[in-house]
Amino acid sequence: MTLAPPYRVCIVGGGFGGLYTALYLSGSPLVRSGQCEIVLVEPRERFLFTPLLYELLTRELHAWEIAPTYEKLLRGKAITLRAQSVLGVDLESQSVRLEDGQRLSYDYLVLAVGKQTRFAPIPGIELALPFRTLEDCDRSITN
Ligand SMILES: Cc1cc2nc3c(=O)[nH]c(=O)nc-3n(C[C@H](O)[C@H](O)[C@H](O)COP(=O)(O)OP(=O)(O)OC[C@H]3O[C@@H](n4cnc5c(N)ncnc54)[C@H](O)[C@@H]3O)c2cc1C
Repeated sequence: MTLAPPYRVCIVGGGFGGLYTALYLSGSPLVRSGQCEIVLVEPRERFLFTPLLYELLTRELHAWEIAPTYEKLLRGKAITLRAQSVLGVDLESQSVRLEDGQRLSYDYLVLAVGKQTRFAPIPGIELALPFRTLEDCDRSITN
């Protein structure tokens, strides 16, 4: 495939996979010379450093320490943030559909949307508390 610059790399999902891909690529010569644009599409306001979620539960750390805003993390970086969910991918036209109805074209697409917690059909599982998000942590503290 022969592409004309600037190329657009669209990264969907700003978890560990997507955020660190974006940060890594943003330091490349192609990006720094303006030949390549990095767009990160992530609907949440904050990145969550999950390995420290336990310390939030035990109140050794505060939410702002383990969940910095994307705005803060991406400040000064050559990464454009679109605070949206991707609702669909059109492989033929090489574009993603955002929740506001806009389409974002891409030359390269990185899908890093993680996964959803799935409750296996185990008796009593309805009493279990998921522990994956800041909201889950708040719920665990109040229960
Ligand atoms: C309490 C806890 C502790 C952990 N500790 C460790 C550890 O010590 N070491 C370790 O290696 N791993 C650890 N993990 C696992 C680690 O957090 C995951 O492996 C990692 O977060 C997976 O990264 P990811 O980028 O694939 O997905 P995620 O982190 O889930 O990120 C996916 C992102 O995609 C976004 N997204 C989803 N759908 C869309 C959409 N349609 N459009 C746009 N964006 C979308 C989401 O908002 C999210 O920000 C821990 C997990 C937990 C819960």
